[in-house]
Amino acid sequence: MAPHPPRSAQPRRIGLTGGIASGKSTVAERLTELGAVVIDADELARRVVEPGTDGLAQVIARFGPQVVGEGGGLDRARLGQIVFADDTARRDLEAIIHPRVRALAATLRCCHPGRVVVEMIPLLVETGQSGAFDEVIVVDLPEDLQRERLVRRSGLTPAAAEARIRAQASRDQRLTAATTVFDNSGDRAALIAQVDQWWRELHA
Ligand code: ADP
Repeated sequence: MAPHPPRSAQPRRIGLTGGIASGKSTVAERLTELGAVVIDADELARRVVEPGTDGLAQVIARFGPQVVGEGGGLDRARLGQIVFADDTARRDLEAIIHPRVRALAATLRCCHPGRVVVEMIPLLVETGQSGAFDEVIVVDLPEDLQRERLVRRSGLTPAAAEARIRAQASRDQRLTAATTVFDNSGDRAALIAQVDQWWRELHA
């Protein structure tokens, strides 16, 4: 009987990141179509403060009942106003949410043997996690185009869009952390073609 092939010790950890409105969700959607399991840190960040969680209890303890909406869930708009205006408040919120998201992601990523797991983490670079990944995919585009797409998608004013972009890592900081770059300065088809090419190389 042939011996078992050697098991690779650990699956590769693959992170997907990019600035706001860079095209991460578009990439994630395509990866899912191709058969990857995408763990979405934003979705996890919502789950860890759902009604009944200790995460929500901690947020209320820090910010007060004013951040609870009708129905007992978090009033995200209200909380957003508070943390966008106050760096200390933002860091306090992150200190509640980020460890819980990481713990949940660790639980989820080990449950898909044989599948390619990609962790989509908007603040991967900002939270200093690049070193934890074997591969860091960055969706990249010039900032003027990023602002334009953000305005179109969100209805924010250009100044508000600019503030959101400024609150994140710079394009250069992200590119320094990247092991793979998807250039999203072209149309959607050009982005998808890069994802497909990456997927083919991964399976070659
Ligand atoms: P993110 O998840 O990084 O915030 P999205 O994938 O949601 O970014 O893309 C941001 C916005 O830009 C969306 O409205 C999306 O439909 C649009 N978009 C993404 N890629 C392109 C592209 N290559 N050309 C035009 N619009 C795009």
